[in-house]
Amino acid sequence: MFENKSQLDAWKQLMKAGDESSLDIPCTNYPDAFFPEKGEKAEIAKSLCRECPILTQCAQYGLEFEYEHGIFGGLTVDERWRIRRAMDARRSRRRTADQWLDQRAS
Ligand code: SF4
Repeated sequence: MFENKSQLDAWKQLMKAGDESSLDIPCTNYPDAFFPEKGEKAEIAKSLCRECPILTQCAQYGLEFEYEHGIFGGLTVDERWRIRRAMDARRSRRRTADQWLDQRAS
């Protein structure tokens, strides 16, 4: 189920936040809105997510897993994909900078 520690951590944080939340989680009341068919707008789900008490944890969970359907943390599949790409590029630049600094120090 989990491919790495980041996925496990994201799942644990989402479960913990859900358990601790005394408020309603919108997608549990309107699940169909969170899995729009191709061509359907995701705006209803996104607006409900903005009211969700566990928005941050859900967005992190959605970014860790590469689900090809559904709205997580107010983000569509395409939005999650773009954010993941930007995060990967940043990590790559950081690795390159660290390697350069290591080489320079040795
Ligand atoms: S943020 Fe996540 S848990 Fe909250 S309503 Fe949206 S999809 Fe559901």
